[in-house]
Amino acid sequence: MDFQTLLIHGGENPDDGLGDLAPPIHVSSTYAQADPERFGPYTYARSGNPTRTALEAAIAALEGGARGLAFASGMAAIASTLLLFAPGDHLIVCRDLYGGAYRVLTGLFARWGLETSFVDTADLAAVARAVTPHTRAVYVESPSNPLLAITDLAAVAGLAKAKGLTSIVDNTFMTPYLQRPLALGFDIVVHSATKFLGGHSDLVAGLAVTADAALGLRLAGIQNAFGAVLPPLDSWLLLRGLRTLAVRLAAEQATAGELAAWLAGRDDLARVHYPGLAGHPGQDIHRAQADGPGAVLSFELQSPAAAKAFMRALTLPKLAVSLGGVESILSYPATMSHAAMPAAERAARGISDALVRLSVGLESAADLKADLDRALAAARARPAP
Ligand SMILES: *Cc1c(COP(=O)(O)O)cnc(C)c1O
Repeated sequence: MDFQTLLIHGGENPDDGLGDLAPPIHVSSTYAQADPERFGPYTYARSGNPTRTALEAAIAALEGGARGLAFASGMAAIASTLLLFAPGDHLIVCRDLYGGAYRVLTGLFARWGLETSFVDTADLAAVARAVTPHTRAVYVESPSNPLLAITDLAAVAGLAKAKGLTSIVDNTFMTPYLQRPLALGFDIVVHSATKFLGGHSDLVAGLAVTADAALGLRLAGIQNAFGAVLPPLDSWLLLRGLRTLAVRLAAEQATAGELAAWLAGRDDLARVHYPGLAGHPGQDIHRAQADGPGAVLSFELQSPAAAKAFMRALTLPKLAVSLGGVESILSYPATMSHAAMPAAERAARGISDALVRLSVGLESAADLKADLDRALAAARARPAP
């Protein structure tokens, strides 16, 4: 089936004999068993729930993996995946990554004994150099958050395979509509489904998909043991959001491309980052491994004061944490997505205090342009103190 068809029909409903087109929401926390020694397919809702199973089958089909698993948040999916490793293990992680993933690695997992090296994964030689006898995994985002840096996914997956490492990729920005990393050789894809997959800013959820069934079984064991599972109502809401992923993201991406080109042509911005812009580092690699540049861009104003004046003057993109909603969302990495990263670490990664990130929604390009234009004029006229 084509991707659009899978979005609608992937992860079919458990057959309850009634012919529901919309999947039923199963709320029971437990299941009556006929026999004390031979259980039915469901026993207890942390271990499995039919509505969650429908969602897990859907994301596994969309990413082309063997097993999908749904978690209470993107961070729960990421942290549960990191529990595949053990104290003393070493991970290689891309330098420019989601602030919450940075926080859990450098805080909780560092305390637990997991060692992390942050590496510019666009530089394959640097990745190879970072491998130690204790290295167990490579973890990347491409495009990364918030600078949209590109990593050659097939090359990293190939290197990981050659060195016996597990390869993990956060595919939140692209979604399987635009990029399918398992087909490029990755072992595990993780998602914040709070973003484009849910798509309506009304849900917090995480997903993980493994390429092979054995790894899926191990991760399912962690999901059950650790217990950060997605509840049935949220599983249903996420399934509903998924149905329109292709039409939403195609329209959002078209507007994002138009806005990025328009912003790049202005002289009051220091930099515009968008994989669809000519000259974006790694653009050829991105074109080869993804079906489009996506709907997230970031840009740097002339100063932090100008950035703050710009954000105060905007009306249409909402100033908020998050991305991937039907409404445009502007976020300020310094105090939002990357607040968990110390200022010196942000600066070392090129995430300046004048940088803003825009997730383009379904409003008209003309209305968004007019609002951005007005706010940029306000930033030029009255930089805040
Ligand atoms: C938001 C986000 C996360 C964390 O997901 P939550 O659902 O907020 O827990 C992880 N990775 C990326 C790229 C994100 O944007």
